[in-house]
Amino acid sequence: MVDRIASQVLERCRSEGKEECVLNGGLSVSGLQHIGRLRGEIILNSVIAEKLRDAGLRVRQVLTLYTVDPWKGKDKQLEQFLNPDVGRRYIEWPLERVPDPKGCHRSWVDHYWRDFGDYLDYFARNVEVITTGEMYREHPRMREFIVMTMRNRERLIEVINKYRGRNPYPRDWIPFEPICENCGRIGTAEVTKLDLDKYEVEYKCTYCGHVGRAKLTDGKLPWS
Ligand SMILES: [Zn+2]
Ligand SMILES: [Zn+2]
Repeated sequence: MVDRIASQVLERCRSEGKEECVLNGGLSVSGLQHIGRLRGEIILNSVIAEKLRDAGLRVRQVLTLYTVDPWKGKDKQLEQFLNPDVGRRYIEWPLERVPDPKGCHRSWVDHYWRDFGDYLDYFARNVEVITTGEMYREHPRMREFIVMTMRNRERLIEVINKYRGRNPYPRDWIPFEPICENCGRIGTAEVTKLDLDKYEVEYKCTYCGHVGRAKLTDGKLPWS
């Protein structure tokens, strides 16, 4: 299977005249990472990357951690806190803002990533780890990408709606999920206005009722 995928990628890169190829995997750090996650997101890409490199292509292997996704606060997650009621306060917060329940790292993500991320080198060489949080806050291309997304949102909504059956997004939907500055949740606010010059949105939180503004660095696109 690996040989087949590698030769398909190679053929495509050659036919499109590409000299560099990016292989991306993605993980959500919602808790302890189990070893099965190595297979699809890391080892498979790594083996393909080696084959592509052998064939003379430049290859980057990237692993994206979805750190702005909401923390669900499932029973297993709540149990990690000495007092689960403390944990409950962080339900629907972005993963990277949830505190480390054991108190030894900066955040939930840091705590649960270390036992897995620190050992990637044993299984794959040169994996670049990036987080969606860093991308939204500081990646120069991300701002460009979001501005482009917002400018083309009508076309984008048309495409997404083809797959949403009886539950289409309204034509004036603004596809952004800000973090509510009052309750800390993500995914609960409705964007009411977009100001691309200021790179911010106005929103109303359906959970706590707060009306506020958020920079487009403080939140995420609904699908990433
Ligand atoms: Zn810790
Ligand atoms: Zn709120």
